[in-house]
Amino acid sequence: MDSKAQTIEKLRADLHRFNYEYYTLDNASISDYEFDLKLKELEQLEKDNPQFFDANSPTQRVGGELTKNFVTRVHKNRMYSLDNSYSKEDLLDWEKRILKLVEGPIEYTCELKYDGASINITYKEGKLVKAVTRGDGVQGDDVTTNIKTIRSLPLTLQEPFLDSFEIRGEIILPLKGFQKMNEERATAGEELYANPRNTASGSLKLQDSVEVAKRPLDCLLYQVVSDDRRFESHSEILSKARSVGFKVPKTLTVAKNIDEVLDFVSLWDEKRHDLPYETDGIVIKVNSLRMQEEIGFTAKAPKWAIAYKFKTEQQATLLNEITYQVGRTGAITPVANLEPVHLGGTTVRKASLHNADQIEKLDIRIGDTVLVEKGGEIIPKIVGVDFSKRSQNTSKTIYATNCPECGTSLIRTDGDAKHYCPNEFGCAPQITGRIQHFISRKAMDIDGLGGETVDLLRKENLINTYADLYELKYEDIVRLDRMAEKSAQNVINGIEKSKEIPFEKVLFALGIRFVGETVAKKLAKHFKNIKALMNASFEALVSVDEIGDRIAQSVVSFSQDELNIQLIDRMESYGVQLSLSAEALENQTDLLKGKTFVVSGVFHKLSRTELKKTIEDNGAKVSSSISKKTDFIVAGDNMGPAKLEKATKLEIQILNEDEFLAMLQ
Ligand code: AMP
Ligand code: ZN
Repeated sequence: MDSKAQTIEKLRADLHRFNYEYYTLDNASISDYEFDLKLKELEQLEKDNPQFFDANSPTQRVGGELTKNFVTRVHKNRMYSLDNSYSKEDLLDWEKRILKLVEGPIEYTCELKYDGASINITYKEGKLVKAVTRGDGVQGDDVTTNIKTIRSLPLTLQEPFLDSFEIRGEIILPLKGFQKMNEERATAGEELYANPRNTASGSLKLQDSVEVAKRPLDCLLYQVVSDDRRFESHSEILSKARSVGFKVPKTLTVAKNIDEVLDFVSLWDEKRHDLPYETDGIVIKVNSLRMQEEIGFTAKAPKWAIAYKFKTEQQATLLNEITYQVGRTGAITPVANLEPVHLGGTTVRKASLHNADQIEKLDIRIGDTVLVEKGGEIIPKIVGVDFSKRSQNTSKTIYATNCPECGTSLIRTDGDAKHYCPNEFGCAPQITGRIQHFISRKAMDIDGLGGETVDLLRKENLINTYADLYELKYEDIVRLDRMAEKSAQNVINGIEKSKEIPFEKVLFALGIRFVGETVAKKLAKHFKNIKALMNASFEALVSVDEIGDRIAQSVVSFSQDELNIQLIDRMESYGVQLSLSAEALENQTDLLKGKTFVVSGVFHKLSRTELKKTIEDNGAKVSSSISKKTDFIVAGDNMGPAKLEKATKLEIQILNEDEFLAMLQ
């Protein structure tokens, strides 16, 4: 083998192992920094030596492929569902049924029932080749590109296992990662994800694998399917799978009889609250693979396995009061204030009531005994009212008509579940919230100004809008409670420095509803300055790639508001960046204006991201799928055959990387 190839192979093997140590064993042997260096080295070598491309290289973890339509694939072996049980009696009945089919004693495996999205992954000759969702059990969607970004899942096995096999598991989103994602959504003023399970399964169907790579997904394996008959038992095959690099949770236990199964159930009914991810029960399987074969399947589930569902935790408690919370964007959330009650390992005092419809639907009244549940959601919810306990003198809940903070009449637009306080500029939590968003790290990044300080400054009437920040004097700040001289100076410096923050971040900082980080970037790039953006019509806005009605409407109403116009004028006078920098503009031309490109395959001179950016910088649009509207395809190595066929059929011009670059000369 050529020595370059050897170096590449060695780096790949090392990086696969480091990934494994870090994400599967949770025991890293090198620092993040060293890891990054090695990864960069490999990236460079692969770029310089494209002949050694490997779809399973550790460099492929970052994603890059777009999937417009997920291809449906038939499972080689059907993916069954599981029958449920809820009690010891159910389990004993189940054992009785099996004992009619095979001779006892029967040994069982007990596993946790991981709550996520099921996946079926095919390996051939030690390499991951395909990953398909469960779908209806017979066929599912091919999500291979997205699945490959999950760091704990081996792309290449460390040791020989079976030649060809399917391994099944659950794609989950650990609680910590889920909370972090929601914190980021909250900062961007976006609606929060409801629960880890739906978010995990939604992630698998994202079109942009780069986005998937950013999500902290994990894959827990629970079954190997193969024609090879060298293994005796389910526990044996899973422990072998674990030793070749798969994340098979160590909670798996072998039980000699149903009593031991019940011990496992009662242990985990408590301990599951300490796990870093959610579970919704236990799965019990007959351990011997021969027995499993003899016992067989019903039309929808294996007879040799059963799920034991944990009781969803529900408690009855008294509803003392309903209060209303006002968010940064003015959205109102009704909150149930409860008589404290113990639930799922914590004391619950508050539960979300979501919106007016929810209260109406459940007919919840103050003084009611309500049922609180802690299910998949992080915030407990109220699932019903115990009407038998309702006293005579309750009265129907009348939803708040005015803002609890500023007294303004609430509004609710058609099709919106939430009420809003429209008093954007005069409602305390909205003012503070908006300024806090403005100064946050991903926005204007003004250090030293915490949430409390913002609130103090507002109470002193020193700031009411983000523009007021730029009028603040050192003397205003230093006389605040507990403010040291040095800190006050830091705040002033931070505000001054924020005048260098680029336009796209300023646009995000303005806190226009539905304009998150990505949308702000798109709009900044397209309109180039704030004046052009604020003068844009609804039609002009929706014609921008990926800008929908909702965003366009929000930008239009922001731009028409006299107060916003004044604020922006003031920001301009302070020297805040309200247009793209000369440097950003310099690389932009109209050379490819009006054209639509599709990018496919692997490139050498530019990365995919750079290539797309170059196309967009020169005025053209990048689309993810080939259609009649496509003008050019830039094709690298390994362009998919389906795409090639479609392009030929539609007679679309295909350019290689050099031909594309020549167009820009
Ligand atoms: P259900 O969807 O309720 O029919 O339950 C079947 C699903 O449970 C399977 O499709 C798996 O995705 C999931 N599951 C989670 N953990 C396990 C496990 N340890 N063994 C088998 N299935 C599991
Ligand atoms: Zn208000």
